Amino acid sequence: MTRAQTIITANKVVSNWGNWQTGNMPPAAFPLSKRRGRCLKFGTAIRWRLVQFEACGLKCRLVIGFNLPKETYVATLAVEQDRDMSVLLSYEFHGTHPGWHIHGACGDVNGIPEGSLRGQWQRRFPKPRGRHRRGVFGVSDDGTAFQVADEFFQLHNEDGTLPL
Ligand SMILES: [Zn+2]
Repeated sequence: MTRAQTIITANKVVSNWGNWQTGNMPPAAFPLSKRRGRCLKFGTAIRWRLVQFEACGLKCRLVIGFNLPKETYVATLAVEQDRDMSVLLSYEFHGTHPGWHIHGACGDVNGIPEGSLRGQWQRRFPKPRGRHRRGVFGVSDDGTAFQVADEFFQLHNEDGTLPL
């Protein structure tokens, strides 16, 4: 049984650290479902970066996107299954509602439906009216955006370093 949390805390072998880019992400970067031609789309004003790694024998993709003026941030972790991708969870901040939160699926990674970013199998932690541990956006540039992703998804190398 492999849970999202197992992958987050596992040793990761990063095959691609990616680079920060602005604007539309190519469909091949995060293809949720090739069969149904579905991919994750960001708007044109987003700053994004794709990190690819292997953990627990699974191929994973983490895409980070943020928009400073809107104070929005999304970091979405998915596993590449045979044909499509299963979204494990997103770590998010939206200027409009309170605090950093997670949209995620519980239980075994293999039990998560493929090909969808959102679904009723996901929960929001904490609940919208619940107490949020972190209420401040705190992202001010590429570096802080990457640090937030690192703190949550534990991307750094074994020696604690994180590439730029
Ligand atoms: Zn959200």
